[in-house]
Amino acid sequence: MPELPEVQTTVNGLNRLAKGLIVEDVWTDYDSKHYHGSDTIKDPEFFSSFRESIVGRKILGAERRAKNILINLEARNSGQKDGSNDSGKLPAQTILIHMKMTGHMMIGEYEFDPKKSRDPWTPAARASDALRDPFNRFIHLVFTLSDGKENKPRKQLVLSDMRKFAKVTLLSTAAAHESAHLEDIGPEPLDPSFTFDRFAERLRLKPVGKIKTTLMDKSIIAGIGNIYSDEALWRAGINPEERVKDVSDKDLKNLYEAVRAVLSRGIDFGGDSMSDYRNIHGERGKFQEQHKAYRKTGQPCSKPKCTGTIRRKVVAGRSAHFCDVHQKLQSKRG
Ligand SMILES: [Zn+2]
Repeated sequence: MPELPEVQTTVNGLNRLAKGLIVEDVWTDYDSKHYHGSDTIKDPEFFSSFRESIVGRKILGAERRAKNILINLEARNSGQKDGSNDSGKLPAQTILIHMKMTGHMMIGEYEFDPKKSRDPWTPAARASDALRDPFNRFIHLVFTLSDGKENKPRKQLVLSDMRKFAKVTLLSTAAAHESAHLEDIGPEPLDPSFTFDRFAERLRLKPVGKIKTTLMDKSIIAGIGNIYSDEALWRAGINPEERVKDVSDKDLKNLYEAVRAVLSRGIDFGGDSMSDYRNIHGERGKFQEQHKAYRKTGQPCSKPKCTGTIRRKVVAGRSAHFCDVHQKLQSKRG
């Protein structure tokens, strides 16, 4: 699942390539069979009002909150489309996209074949090869964008989503952060205001929680999933099953630094593409080449002078990868 660095990479791409463009149309083949929320485009009626609300609006930019992409659209005059003199202003709106397990967004030139009932959207002949990566072919949502000028080639902003778990909805920009989709999310770990004291205070809300599970709890801290929790715990030398209350202040301080370092590196390397994630151009990120623990089961630990081996254990239903020497539980240290 895309985590904070992957979602940030996509948001950065949207701000480079989609900012200022106008939504000309939107298409989807998600339907209520893939439904998992009361107000998402998987509800055909919701999709119809979604389409009505966004077509004709300009993209002001994108931002990230936890693992959610927020695409902000400008306010528009309600009479704009039919040229009437209605001076009512429709408020600014925000498209919220959570890519979930296998979703990723790309921008390029695509063609639609109405004769194909399955996967009707494919990259145009002049589109880049990266868009033809087999992981990029599960196109279930397409925004057609233009710069508003006549006869300019249009671009498509697409969501490839093999498992069809993604969530897409529309919020008023003013109330987006207070909406049920975002309200119970903890602080952003890369925010300048996220100090060590804040980090410790958040984790200690769950003193008997296992440290890996608590790090991945979005109500405690935003945006950390399986990959970056494993990598941060490896760096800090903490066992994923250690209870929060048993982690020393020194180790917790190391973990704070490690969390911020691995997330920043994840962004610097363009995200992690060990699984489905691809960037806005359909290309792989490179953070998977930097893993020290995640999916390194059976390999020697790469920490200098450490003689350990990376082990895998299921912790609260998720795979934890850790070194059996420098990440021992406190109670088993000699
Ligand atoms: Zn080690």
